[in-house]
Amino acid sequence: MARPPKKLVSSPGEPQTQVGTQLNPAMTASAMARRSGGVNQAAAGRSTGLGLDSEGVRRSMVERLRASGPLDAKVLDAVAAVPRHLFVDAALVTQAYEDTSLPIGHGQTISKPSVVTRMIGVLMDGVTARAGGHLGKVLEVGTGCGYQAAVLCQLSRHVVSVERIKGLHDKARDLVAPLRMDHLRLVYGDGMLGHPPNAPYDSIIAAACGSDVPEAWLEQLAVGGRLISPVLDAANKQRLVVIDRLEAGGFQRTEYEAVQFVPLKSGSI
Ligand code: SAH
Repeated sequence: MARPPKKLVSSPGEPQTQVGTQLNPAMTASAMARRSGGVNQAAAGRSTGLGLDSEGVRRSMVERLRASGPLDAKVLDAVAAVPRHLFVDAALVTQAYEDTSLPIGHGQTISKPSVVTRMIGVLMDGVTARAGGHLGKVLEVGTGCGYQAAVLCQLSRHVVSVERIKGLHDKARDLVAPLRMDHLRLVYGDGMLGHPPNAPYDSIIAAACGSDVPEAWLEQLAVGGRLISPVLDAANKQRLVVIDRLEAGGFQRTEYEAVQFVPLKSGSI
């Protein structure tokens, strides 16, 4: 995926906007993980049984991501803290630290690390100042196998992640269990409805692409919060869209680069 600098590109007809608060470098992801009871390091360093030095390969992946463009250091630390190989099937484990999406069953995929890093980085730019150096309370739509939810947990005080496919919801629950992330709540249901019981959310992130951002997500976004989601544009191409709920009232929508996600579907199965 092309990786332009962290500058927002406005869509035709919209004024160009530049959003970006200075990140607080004082709190590292590992400090955050300690504070919020993040990844269980024993589980994170666990051998795959395939001769994979997971920590070393993971560090190399993060170094490649770091070299690829301007990325938020705290987000890279969060990616470095999550053992991605635990979220992919045994047959694919040697590809776990390549920058690629991989099948997770039910026709779905685990997101590319560069896309996870990019999207969470854009969220961080928008909410850190208000939410005290992290993402605050997060809603993720599209748990899949739970990988991105685990990364979000390193940078948040509470993550609610919704998945519409029961088989994947169950799989994610089993995969995150050994990582002991007590502030992660996995919900089985239609994420197009958001998750009203825990609203409002400081950050909302979608891992599946719809024709527009569902109204429920806007309603459940906190004032001062930020949402990021892939959305189909007029030419039926997927594009990342950021929506900020402004303190002064109203929403500001800004478009970013083209992306490739699985479809956002209504209902649960
Ligand atoms: N976050 C995952 C990516 C999973 S792929 C990761 O860490 O890699 C996107 C997921 O979105 C799929 O599992 C798909 O089933 C789910 N999805 C699509 N529409 C949805 C909806 N309306 N509600 C909840 N999940 C949805």
